[in-house]
Amino acid sequence: MKYADLHVHTFYSDSTFSPEEVISCAKEMNLAAIAICDHDSIDGIEPCQKLGLEAGIEVIPAIEMTAERIDAEVHLLGYFVESEEAWFREKLKEIQRSRIDRIYKMVDKLKEFDIDVDPEAVLKKAGKGTVGRLHMAQVILDTGKARNMKQVFDKYIGFAKPCYVAYTKFSPKEAIETILKAGGVPVLAHPNLMGRDEYIEEFINYGLRGLEVYHTDHKPHVSRRYELLAKDHDLIMTGGSDCHGMGKGRILMGGVRVPYDVVEKLKEEAKIIKKNR
Ligand code: AMP
Ligand code: ZN
Ligand code: FE
Ligand code: FE
Repeated sequence: MKYADLHVHTFYSDSTFSPEEVISCAKEMNLAAIAICDHDSIDGIEPCQKLGLEAGIEVIPAIEMTAERIDAEVHLLGYFVESEEAWFREKLKEIQRSRIDRIYKMVDKLKEFDIDVDPEAVLKKAGKGTVGRLHMAQVILDTGKARNMKQVFDKYIGFAKPCYVAYTKFSPKEAIETILKAGGVPVLAHPNLMGRDEYIEEFINYGLRGLEVYHTDHKPHVSRRYELLAKDHDLIMTGGSDCHGMGKGRILMGGVRVPYDVVEKLKEEAKIIKKNR
């Protein structure tokens, strides 16, 4: 039986793993395929594909884009996006720039809570990758002002917490349309973290094609709920670990995986989307 982990990050966003580490980990976990889903970046795809070719691991080009609603953070995966399109690259650059501005804004807010963070230290953690809250959280932990990652997010930088700063003016509709325009299959990431199942039907009207039913943060009964929802709406059921290397304290890759059939379904859907563009 062949398996795929359809949600993997690299150090081109907020994982600690290089493409080499990603591929050797996938090999160790005996995965036939992985999808590289960096936040607002496609830079990790090519290097992973090159190494994957040598190692016999299929690397699926993908992305994880953030959209926001007043009451929800919406992460959208785009499978088989075409990374060579110039307008798409430009759009991602723009988002990456606003991610940097956001770090400075968060630093200002954190000051009000007597937490002194050097924005350059956060950018340094990100290196050449898109900077995000996981980098910020690591620097906050280094100050000793919080006990653990959970506390950092719960008290300060989690969605709608006092030091949270939005960086995207993207609505879910725009994110889905962007993924479609890039030839990708839009799939709602970890729907339980969004916590608003009532939005899903609306997203389907915008072009959503799948649900990430299986995810590290989905307990079995939660996955069951999304299995039913996906079946009801004829959505592709995907799954992945959301591995961030050591970024979440432990290596998650392969801990959540789906049969290779799912990859085939995504490929078919991507073909249809590209044809209808
Ligand atoms: P960003 O893309 O900068 O908004 O940051 C998103 C990253 O922060 C993702 O890797 C999430 O897994 C992580 N994150 C968001 N909320 C939490 C939370 N409550 N606990 C731990 N990690 C979180
Ligand atoms: Zn992340
Ligand atoms: Fe996410
Ligand atoms: Fe992710």
